[in-house]
Amino acid sequence: MDGAAVTAHELAIVPEGMIADMLTRDAAFEAVEKVFAAMAAGDASNFPVVREALGHEDALYGFKGGFDRAGGVLGLKAGGYWPHNLERRSLINHQSTVFLFDPDSGRVKAMVGGNLLTALRTAAASSVSIKHLVRKDAEVLGMIGAGHQAGFQLRAALETHRFKKVIGWNMHPEMLPNLSRVAEEMGVPFEPVELTGMREADAIITITSSFAPTLMADHVSPGTHLACMGTDTKGKQEVDAAILSGATVFTDEVAQSVSIGEAQHAIGSGALAEADITEIGSVINGAHPGRSSDDEITLFDGTGVGLQDLAVAASIVDVALERGEATVVPI
Ligand code: NAD
Repeated sequence: MDGAAVTAHELAIVPEGMIADMLTRDAAFEAVEKVFAAMAAGDASNFPVVREALGHEDALYGFKGGFDRAGGVLGLKAGGYWPHNLERRSLINHQSTVFLFDPDSGRVKAMVGGNLLTALRTAAASSVSIKHLVRKDAEVLGMIGAGHQAGFQLRAALETHRFKKVIGWNMHPEMLPNLSRVAEEMGVPFEPVELTGMREADAIITITSSFAPTLMADHVSPGTHLACMGTDTKGKQEVDAAILSGATVFTDEVAQSVSIGEAQHAIGSGALAEADITEIGSVINGAHPGRSSDDEITLFDGTGVGLQDLAVAASIVDVALERGEATVVPI
């Protein structure tokens, strides 16, 4: 956080309802790209994730924290999943809040709504991978998944690369209008396809809550870039492990990729070695060349790290303070 700032005796609050006005997709992209680079350079690290079943309301609650020494950002996102929120209280099921602390003194600096922020930072991660790994002549974007996150993913991808067409598949086809609506708004034609139709795609984003692979190796053409974004828990899986063994695999954080990300399955079966997985930040930093040929399949395993949340939250607080729109309270 630079520019306008809170004093040592103040806390800035930016509630959920203000996030949409404070955060542009460009700002989310920039914050996530920068923090991925800092992670790969060893300047920023995530802390072990805590995730607990509360034994109350069937809720899962946890913390994702980290410290970005380069950006001077320390904090955590607290929250989780309350499956009955929508039906019982007309609230969305995912609920989270980000807390930022002064790394020099440990005092709390800011409290930021984390719900929309999570969707935008997740979409920014796949977009960063598209920017750095897609073939420059890529024209067709494939979407697998059409739930809450999918629309954010699609919009960010279309803003990052000039795709000429979007094709989509979802296990529940009645949800596909969530994709076609966004494509239409962005002025790009949309076509529903079978999984075999994904061979036409130059880039594919998977964003489902699946526990078994749907996209198989023969659904993916040479030269495709895949951003696998749905698998963020042990046991989830969206794509055939054979795709990973035939691809150059990148991730946000290797430790998460091999344990809770899409790579957990290929690692478990021995089809992929941990040493074969590269942090996307190395490509951003120029330490890894990224895509090396037009035939190579590249795959980004986006597991979602706390530092993404903190980076985006810090950028929101900067904007809110600069505009004089944060609620600043004495502490
Ligand atoms: P959602 O419930 O709104 O949508 C779920 C999607 O998965 C729908 O498209 C649904 O049709 C599909 N689906 C459900 N069961 C399936 C199955 N068995 N096989 C194939 N598809 C199936 O969820 P969401 O909020 O859009 O989140 C999607 C996924 O992304 C979740 O797994 C979530 O945990 C994950 N996520 C990841 C990150 C990250 O940083 N990587 C961040 C947020 C969410």
